[in-house]
Amino acid sequence: MKYIGAHVSAAGGVEHAVANAVAIGATAFALFTKNQKRWTAPPLKPENISAFKQACTSQGFSPEQILPHDSYLINLGHPQADKLEKSRQAFIDEMQRCEALGLTRLNFHPGSHLREIDERACLARIAESINLALEQTHSVVAVIENTAGQGSNVGYCFEHLAEILCQVADQSRVGVCLDTCHLFAAGYDLRTAAACDETFGQFAEQVGFERLYGMHLNDSKTALGKHVDRHASLGDGELGWGCFEYLLSDSRFDGIPLILETTDQERWPDEIAALKRFAGQQE
Ligand SMILES: [Zn+2]
Ligand SMILES: [Zn+2]
Repeated sequence: MKYIGAHVSAAGGVEHAVANAVAIGATAFALFTKNQKRWTAPPLKPENISAFKQACTSQGFSPEQILPHDSYLINLGHPQADKLEKSRQAFIDEMQRCEALGLTRLNFHPGSHLREIDERACLARIAESINLALEQTHSVVAVIENTAGQGSNVGYCFEHLAEILCQVADQSRVGVCLDTCHLFAAGYDLRTAAACDETFGQFAEQVGFERLYGMHLNDSKTALGKHVDRHASLGDGELGWGCFEYLLSDSRFDGIPLILETTDQERWPDEIAALKRFAGQQE
């Protein structure tokens, strides 16, 4: 079974994300559990938590169909001690919010070295940040997203993901999310079935599909290996529909949230319907 959806708005309360997902025909969704542009937020109110849980139950969303995303401000590999600590506290809060909502995974961008420390030191800081957060929580899986390698972001190659993963103490609570636009911008070709075979073969070898807890399905405005993160609507970018047909007809991508972060929200219902057809899951 493929779970297909988009990163929907939670404006007005987290429970609204569920209705927004249903409205576009989604069987998966992503959301922010707080304002993603702010460091802190008031705790979730009990009434929002229960409304969210009720909506998920009545609409048939289980935790493995939901992929919360953390704030863009957080840098778990920050080179400066005080700023690293601020990010770690914010990340722990995000993990705890997911737990309060009964959710089991939190998707985040690994971090940036800001050209002040080397990549390996940054990756080690990120792993330590994950370890600290897992100690403060009980059940949420930390889901590291691959990056386009823009600026000083680490996590743009499978070796980086593997290096973070191997330094995490609790292996049962860490995984990865692959973003197709980021893969392509980082230099992993996905334009043909043969290219997908090669890229995901490398992923299987260096990271492993048992680590895959979600995917972001985005076409790419920028060319292969340019290290620039610009999402395009499916079929409008460099990847084309073939990449998404490949993913949706491959059982290695079953049972995880497949999330659109494409730019034109008006097209989400059509994109989701097309992805369902590729998966042989007609309404
Ligand atoms: Zn993404
Ligand atoms: Zn992106």
